[in-house]
Amino acid sequence: QEQQLSNGVRRRRRRVVLFSLPFQGHLNPTLKLAALLHAGGLAVTVLHTDFNAPDPARHHPELTFVPIHETPLPDAAVSPDSDILAKLLALNAACAAPFRDALASLLLCSGGHDDVACAVVDGQCYAAMRAAGELGVPVLALRTDSAAALRNMLAIPRLRDAGYCLPIKEERLDEPVPGLEPLRVRDLIRVDGCDAGELCSFVASVAGAVGAWVSGVVLNTFEAIEEPELAALRRELSLPAFAVGPLHMLFRRAPAPAEQGPHAPDRSCLAWLDARPPRSVLYVSLGSLACVGRGVFEEMAWGLAGSGVPFLWVVRPGFVTGAGASDGEEAPPPLPDGFEEEIKDRGKIVRWAPQREVLAHEAIGTFWTHCGWNSTLESVCEGVPMLVQPCFADQMVTARYVTHEWGVGMAVGEVVERGRVAQAVKKVMAGGDGAQMRERARHLKMQASDATGSAMDGLVQYIMSL
Ligand code: UDP
Repeated sequence: QEQQLSNGVRRRRRRVVLFSLPFQGHLNPTLKLAALLHAGGLAVTVLHTDFNAPDPARHHPELTFVPIHETPLPDAAVSPDSDILAKLLALNAACAAPFRDALASLLLCSGGHDDVACAVVDGQCYAAMRAAGELGVPVLALRTDSAAALRNMLAIPRLRDAGYCLPIKEERLDEPVPGLEPLRVRDLIRVDGCDAGELCSFVASVAGAVGAWVSGVVLNTFEAIEEPELAALRRELSLPAFAVGPLHMLFRRAPAPAEQGPHAPDRSCLAWLDARPPRSVLYVSLGSLACVGRGVFEEMAWGLAGSGVPFLWVVRPGFVTGAGASDGEEAPPPLPDGFEEEIKDRGKIVRWAPQREVLAHEAIGTFWTHCGWNSTLESVCEGVPMLVQPCFADQMVTARYVTHEWGVGMAVGEVVERGRVAQAVKKVMAGGDGAQMRERARHLKMQASDATGSAMDGLVQYIMSL
């Protein structure tokens, strides 16, 4: 791993060590960042968990992959029924010591601190940030959510003290939150079933690690959509924040790393879309983690049926909670009785879609999304307006930006009921509001395509200087 300088001198390349928690929505941007840092002249090692491990054969051959062999994961870390906070806490605990050991042996084998310039660590993994910092390695925190969501997260202790955390009285839900506008109380990060205390202690661990060990923050966002939020974040953290996104748009010349997914994408949906007129199809997916109860699932299904609009729906195994033991882990939940007969060829259901290609397909008119940050960015980059149904955590924040700040989406509504669903789908797919949202989405798409990668160059230079 040597590099020839312009004066002919050869020197060892500086190495960056990356580590992501094993969620699809974290791993994919991390692997893209790994490939881009490598293209920027850095040697790259990806430390990873055994759970959801990336397949090295599907990535750039010059990236080095090293498993940390985390301690066996408890049910709380993997069960589709456990909430995101339980998963984050369990994963932090399981990764702490194995990550530290893996990084320590890398430092021993690879020429130590002269070689390893920094660790770029999942910004939700306080255990890894702390371990890297304690080993004397400069740490950058990689956030796979928006700048607005990070600001909300870091403000949670202050918000709790000011009485803004849920549960909160119904009549206060529409109050704007001072310092976090345009968020209202109802848009704040929350995890159903967790109290504000649990969330606060998680946030305190993240904020503590960032405050103690982190030399910079890397975000998969871009200035044109989050300029004020990024400026506020830089002030609040007193740290450099590199808005290097949208990462998937930076692979214009080099091929992007293969997407990691829980299932093989069902590509038959692309041929199905080929047979549909432009902008006629609603694409429905709530990402890789969100689950709904049987009741909400049925309302979604009958709402789609009642809208009369053609749709492509991702129904992954585990998407419906309490689907029953007989369904098995890998079987998708059964559809409501009579649903398939009702929709015939007007609907296509897959367990996992090649989402980026789907969103780029001209047949797609709107994306019904949970507002996961990757999905939102992918929709923005293709100029596809959104119907939003946030489920937990930062999805509430992003949904507010989509509908209110950027004007490229409308809400399904807090209560998912078939009549309202059908109405919302018809409204967003038709002219009027739908057309205006599409026009604004087209504008955002142009801004996203202008993201040049200069923030990435700045990041590489910063890493070289560490
Ligand atoms: N995705 C996909 N096929 C699907 C559903 C999702 O490829 O059928 C991808 C999607 O393109 C995105 C990621 O999975 O990159 C989901 O990340 P996001 O942040 O939107 O949501 P999360 O799964 O983390 O809740």
